[in-house]
Amino acid sequence: MSRHRNVRSYNYDEAAQFIYSRQARPSAFGEPLEEEDYEYEEEEEQQPVVPSTQKPRVGADDQARLYSCLEQMREVLGDSVSEQEMTEAVLKCNFSAQEALDMVFSQNNTARGSRAKNQTALSSGKSTKGGARDPPVKKTESEIVPKVARMTVSGKKQTMGFDIPSTTVEENGDSVNAIKKGAGLDETATPRTVDVSSKTSLPAAATSVAEEPMATQTPGRSTGKSKQQIDVKAELEKRQGGKQLINLVVIGHVDAGKSTLMGHLLYLTGNVNKRTMHKYEQESKKAGKASFAYAWVLDETGEERERGVTMDVGMTKFETKTKVITLMDAPGHRDFIPNMISGAAQADVAVLVVDASRGEFEAGFEAGGQTREHGLLVRSLGVTQLAVAVNKMDQVSWQQERFKEITTKLGQFLKQAGFKESDVGYIPTSGLAGENLINRSTLPELISWYKGPSLLEHIDSFKPPQRPVEKPFRLCVSDVFKDQGSGFCVTGKIEAGYVQTGDKILAMPPNETCSVKGIVLHDEPVDWAAAGDHVSLTVTGMDIIKINVGCLFCDPKEPIKACTRFRARVLIFNIDLPITQGFPVLLHYQTVSEPATIRRLVSILHKSTGEVLKRRPKCLTKGQNAVVELQTQRPVALELYKDFKELGRFMLRYAGSTISAGVVTEIKE
Ligand code: GDP
Repeated sequence: MSRHRNVRSYNYDEAAQFIYSRQARPSAFGEPLEEEDYEYEEEEEQQPVVPSTQKPRVGADDQARLYSCLEQMREVLGDSVSEQEMTEAVLKCNFSAQEALDMVFSQNNTARGSRAKNQTALSSGKSTKGGARDPPVKKTESEIVPKVARMTVSGKKQTMGFDIPSTTVEENGDSVNAIKKGAGLDETATPRTVDVSSKTSLPAAATSVAEEPMATQTPGRSTGKSKQQIDVKAELEKRQGGKQLINLVVIGHVDAGKSTLMGHLLYLTGNVNKRTMHKYEQESKKAGKASFAYAWVLDETGEERERGVTMDVGMTKFETKTKVITLMDAPGHRDFIPNMISGAAQADVAVLVVDASRGEFEAGFEAGGQTREHGLLVRSLGVTQLAVAVNKMDQVSWQQERFKEITTKLGQFLKQAGFKESDVGYIPTSGLAGENLINRSTLPELISWYKGPSLLEHIDSFKPPQRPVEKPFRLCVSDVFKDQGSGFCVTGKIEAGYVQTGDKILAMPPNETCSVKGIVLHDEPVDWAAAGDHVSLTVTGMDIIKINVGCLFCDPKEPIKACTRFRARVLIFNIDLPITQGFPVLLHYQTVSEPATIRRLVSILHKSTGEVLKRRPKCLTKGQNAVVELQTQRPVALELYKDFKELGRFMLRYAGSTISAGVVTEIKE
């Protein structure tokens, strides 16, 4: 299970001191654990180290760019070229890593002999790192292992039917040269691809991979990879054993019983073992909250349990007969609506939970309740299929009249909100008793009038959404954290395309590239992941400080635009104050929550025809459809709605209420 946390609004100047710094010595964190020590060492090794005597005199920004370039080059060249040589090339090429690489290559081509000399110098202890490390030759041996491990990935991918450039290890006398081959890899090269299991048994001679810089080059990841040859759709089907993937968000007013319902459902489907459930029961009893035992399955944090309120988006996975479901339990309390929005933005379908108890349904449904707001939000964020769990039916003795009363009221509202009647199902449930959750109920008072499906059956019947795997890669960051090892982790849902380990991806903002070192899907490491997957990526080659929740990772060849000014068509919800020029709002978009202002009121449109009714209106009032221009404080990465539905929609909130939903029609700057 994973949790989202909104760090976009952190003050990074202050937060910086708490974030792991590559430059800082480990001692700054007190006594480092042995393991951490090792990680640090490894990271240090990958760091471009410029000897102080050779450090170029550049400003802080340029220095950061220089380090980033050096790191990219180091990935390709290993230790074969001196730091100084690379630094000079980077400076000459105006911080373009690619050009600098080309320059180093051409220099080395024309001066192979001198390079060999350089190598001798390096291996005789004039390494830039030197110091108290192992003797240079041995050190290269330890360094080669991660490199080979990386090659292994491509080896694995080949066995998965992915036709991508592979890295091979060829013996050449007593030196081994890793030679990158293109997509048209010849037969003789393939069997030499190193396998994970064989990496430890590499001959000691493999230590000198770095001796031939041209040969160690593995830039295929960033240049020559022929992604179009991967049949991701077929691979996806294989991976899920023929099951379809659906992202489901659970929404509804606070205390409607969302966590209890889904916690119990997870228990009944075997996703929570008896021992754990027993533990939750005991703990919740001790805490005087026995009725929350099932809710604790999803409410993981101490504060959530103490307050009995879901605050963050809990995420877990379960399976039905035909589907693999990623379940997101969204907070119902209005204070946590931004978290709920980021959960809902990643969902394909929703379960709306309403409390059937007398007075409680009404409290959630009336103005100020979250039933309406959540319903509107998910619809505006693109969810079209809904299962309504009319919950706590035990409290009203499973009365058909009460069920009818609720479904009629809700039905009218949901229709207005834009849900098709055929896409909404109503299921009477009791989350606490576990009634009608996975199996159809046998309660006489219910089956006398209800013959419909159980909640799980209804979830199983949701139509799976299209997965735009053929579109360029897009992932919206929902969490950023530092894990063990080099680099850092970002989590989020892949909105489009797919990603493989070793890929170079671009973060917008800040418009910088990094490499994907690892991908974790449902707690398991994988080589690739595609649209619809909630993944955690380990990325290297970028400073964690630059990545916030809400950043978009994309394909560098087809980047997403980042802008601070854009036009949008908006629908104004029930608002008290009219919206005028300069109106301050919070823009919620995927996992972004960004202050913005309505810079210009462009026109009021006819609701159904879209025809312009009035140009440059003075204000906008409830229920109106309009075109407005929005200005954000910081750049946000957006797509036009017509190109990319999922990334072209947003919500506007003001003073704790959602005041409008919109779609991006024009990106200005
Ligand atoms: P959430 O805020 O929507 O996640 O609601 P919780 O799952 O935390 O539940 C709020 C309270 O309602 C808890 O005390 C639950 O035990 C109780 N509850 C949940 N489902 C049912 C139900 O089906 N019947 C009854 N009687 N109580 C329920």
